[in-house]
Amino acid sequence: MRGDITVISGPTAVGKGTVVSALKLRCPDVWVSVSATTRSPRPLERDGVDYLFVSNTEFDHLVATDGLLEWAQVHGRDRYGTPVAPVEAAVAAGRRVILEIDLQGARQVKAKLPGVRSIFLEPPSWDVLVSRLEGRGTETSEQRNRRLSTARMELAAASEFDHVVVNEDLGDTVDALVGLLGLSHTHVTKV
Ligand code: 5GP
Repeated sequence: MRGDITVISGPTAVGKGTVVSALKLRCPDVWVSVSATTRSPRPLERDGVDYLFVSNTEFDHLVATDGLLEWAQVHGRDRYGTPVAPVEAAVAAGRRVILEIDLQGARQVKAKLPGVRSIFLEPPSWDVLVSRLEGRGTETSEQRNRRLSTARMELAAASEFDHVVVNEDLGDTVDALVGLLGLSHTHVTKV
């Protein structure tokens, strides 16, 4: 699969989802993959938009039929994966493809598709990460602790990525991504 593919990764609660949504609004050429997951939807999450929410059996079927470009069990519980067919279609249509995935998935994609661009989002500090995760209030304290221990390991792998962007201010982060993706002004619409 050739084309313009960018992997965006980073620890829990760094703001990947918010950053990618803002980038999509700024740049209509950007196409963001919708992952399949066995996790339950959070309030306000929409099936087919935020994720494809699937059962364990459905996920097994996707894996068995090579329907996923990569997949991983994240935070020791749920499985997440990138459906390959929509990515192929977006690449064929000349879209700028973004995969917002965890470190394990990023490593798989980099191994399968050498030459993909990879960007790691970092929090301004460890304390900011902890308070963002606590402020979100979507996890139990046990889930939070597990996510934080994964986050420590993920932060140590930042140097595996082509670029590291510190997500302190949303606008600055999106500007940095627009620059790294080489999105010219003709691709940018005002929001
Ligand atoms: P959340 O449950 O908070 O939405 O996401 C948990 C983690 O799963 C995040 O680190 C996110 O980047 C990762 N993730 C989401 N979709 C995928 C995917 O398709 N593949 C992989 N490997 N990780 C994913």
